[in-house]
Amino acid sequence: MFRPKHHWQPAEHQRHAVAGTLPGGQRNRDGESVEALCQRTVSTAGRTELDWLWPTCPDCLQAAERLNGVPS
Ligand SMILES: [Zn+2]
Repeated sequence: MFRPKHHWQPAEHQRHAVAGTLPGGQRNRDGESVEALCQRTVSTAGRTELDWLWPTCPDCLQAAERLNGVPS
């Protein structure tokens, strides 16, 4: 089974990828500062399901593909 080396985190109106995994169902605390794979430090959101509809950060997507060994 594929185990991603990152998880997605809504923050500042984009879905950013953050290195590492969170245990099932667990989320980062609201407003916590996390360093995303795009090298930006972002303040987390995700209080509502609507936050998950924000567009994916393109830099994070690229970094997540590299991190997981997806050929480009
Ligand atoms: Zn990002």
